[in-house]
Amino acid sequence: MSEEVKKLVIIGSGPAGLTAAIYGSRADLNPLVFTGTAYGGQLMVSSEVENFPGFPDPVLGPDLMERMRAQAQRLGATLVQEDVTGVDFKNYPLEVRTASGSLKAYSVIVATGANPKRLNLETEMRLMGKGVSNCAVCDGFFFRGRKIAVVGGGDTAMEEATFLTKFASSVQVIHRRSELRASAALQKEAFANPKISFIWSTVVTEVLGDGKVHGVRLKNLDSGKESELAVDGLFVAIGYEPNTKIFEGQLELDRAGYIEVRNETETSVPGVFVAGDAHDHRYRQAITAAADGCRALLDAEKFLKVKLEVS
Ligand code: NAP
Repeated sequence: MSEEVKKLVIIGSGPAGLTAAIYGSRADLNPLVFTGTAYGGQLMVSSEVENFPGFPDPVLGPDLMERMRAQAQRLGATLVQEDVTGVDFKNYPLEVRTASGSLKAYSVIVATGANPKRLNLETEMRLMGKGVSNCAVCDGFFFRGRKIAVVGGGDTAMEEATFLTKFASSVQVIHRRSELRASAALQKEAFANPKISFIWSTVVTEVLGDGKVHGVRLKNLDSGKESELAVDGLFVAIGYEPNTKIFEGQLELDRAGYIEVRNETETSVPGVFVAGDAHDHRYRQAITAAADGCRALLDAEKFLKVKLEVS
């Protein structure tokens, strides 16, 4: 790779990374974006997006990402479809490595996102966006008057189940144990909701449907008994995994692996900024990730101005 030290390298190509690339191009920082081999982030497995401003008609998740990519490239960002395999943030300039080499940068924006944990069922992935979802705020609206199942027993599952009762005729929470992990307050709220019922000590072994979900196959872990449950939608809410493995030992991470931030978008290393779900486990929306990409870029731009003027 080139010997020249890049002003700005962006790692990740979801809404956070590409928004940073759009703003970075317009700030004349010539950003180089490592998009990852699976470029585009979580929206690449979403179907219709109805809540991204500027799209009066629904837009498909992959189409929205394609528009962001085209916009970043038109403005001059360089996109490289490679995975970053390692970094050295202990020395300056910062180093970013991929399978084909390494390069140095004066600033880096980490926008590697997070992935919802999956049940790892073949049918779950096949019906993702066709009745299987990981995001009630994104997809709940499509299930008005329908029967929904939610998998999980944590805070996210309780929040999603409660939120989904706004639309669904019924919500059945399927949990692998006989007690919830969720906080007392969220449990109380869910137990008090007449639309929510619980199926305990049970796992989903198959999502049923051809083109769209019409049920799930269940297995009771105490009795081993199998059964089928008719539902129109399945929300998998069993936690998230931030994509931050390559930053272990380089950036401060919290116990769950999210990047620690200070002063808005700054990480523990000067010159390295973070945007989107790699640190944000609270909002997790495309629009908040995009906004975060803008904020990280403005902070990186300020950092570079001082750094490059001084040196
Ligand atoms: P979580 O706390 O890790 O809970 C995950 C749930 O999914 C657990 O009940 C777990 O079962 C279940 N699970 C995990 N893997 C499974 C599998 N393969 N099959 C079936 N079930 C599985 O995740 P989370 O609910 O997303 O919460 C993550 C963090 O964010 C937590 O610290 C939480 O407190 C926080 N959070 C807070 C709020 C809030 O305060 N309003 C809202 C959302 C999240 P077990 O219980 O048997 O392990």
